[in-house]
Amino acid sequence: MNATVGYNYIRGEFLAEPVPRFEAALKEAYEAGLLGKNIQGSGIDFDLHTYVGAGAYICGEETALLDSLEGKTGKPRFKPPFPAAFGLYGMPTTINNTQSYASVPTILRRGAQWFAELGPKNSGGTAIFSVSGHVEKPGNFELPLGIPFVDLLELCGGVLGGRQLKAVIPGGSSVPVVPAATMLKLNMDYDSLRAGGSSIGSAAVIVMDETTCMVRVLERLSRFYMSESCGQCTPCREGTGWLNRTLKRILAGQGRQEDLNLLLDVANRIEGHTICGLGDAAAWPVQSFLKHFRHEFEYMVEHGGSSIVLAARVAA
Ligand code: SF4
Repeated sequence: MNATVGYNYIRGEFLAEPVPRFEAALKEAYEAGLLGKNIQGSGIDFDLHTYVGAGAYICGEETALLDSLEGKTGKPRFKPPFPAAFGLYGMPTTINNTQSYASVPTILRRGAQWFAELGPKNSGGTAIFSVSGHVEKPGNFELPLGIPFVDLLELCGGVLGGRQLKAVIPGGSSVPVVPAATMLKLNMDYDSLRAGGSSIGSAAVIVMDETTCMVRVLERLSRFYMSESCGQCTPCREGTGWLNRTLKRILAGQGRQEDLNLLLDVANRIEGHTICGLGDAAAWPVQSFLKHFRHEFEYMVEHGGSSIVLAARVAA
């Protein structure tokens, strides 16, 4: 594409390990003549730089990242124009996740067909499943797409303490939560997770066992989106705060049954009405938690802030 410069944008929290590791690799690449002027006598010039962000989640949105890279506050841009036409400093820009670029050398070495055939139809290749929550061995697992969720769970040593699985968020906190009974039948690929009412998203898998209070989880998620909203659009800026305050009120024992529909109403008014996907990301957990676990919210409202999970444990 005739680009002569590239930037690896790494968020600020990763200063301790990924940044020095990448810098060392960069030095090796320059020393080996794989970067810089006239690479390997090809006549191609290409310089690659590290750029360390300040740690805002929203700078994972490509146009916010570009603004941040230009030294501005990282806020998503209106699209179009898209980065391919008007990107960094107004120049045509290609922008991808590091994980995608990291797959390229293997694909070039072994062929696109080989890579595609690692996974099922429509979900070729591998994903790095970043498993957290109630498992014995949380971590990052690079595996072919399409692996059954039960196999992934087994690789992680199973549910923590041998407890029962309650629910899974299969693709990062923004995608819809899936109850255990459904999740145990799904494979970790685009089509299967879509059929299960969720999405593979970033392949960050959050596992929750039977001791999890879903109201508390949703409050934690909504607090995250409230604090990471860049504040540009009113539905996201005001709506995320509204969601969080309502959930806090329910947890504090001051909730009303009508708050549950209020949560859905606010989420529905955010979804699809914002500049970037963070608004949708804030709305989807609310919609899915209330769809699958509404009884937990109702119980807490009815019992002055007590969790149904706690009641079940006391009864046991
Ligand atoms: S949706 Fe939220 S994060 Fe995205 S641009 Fe609007 S206010 Fe900012």
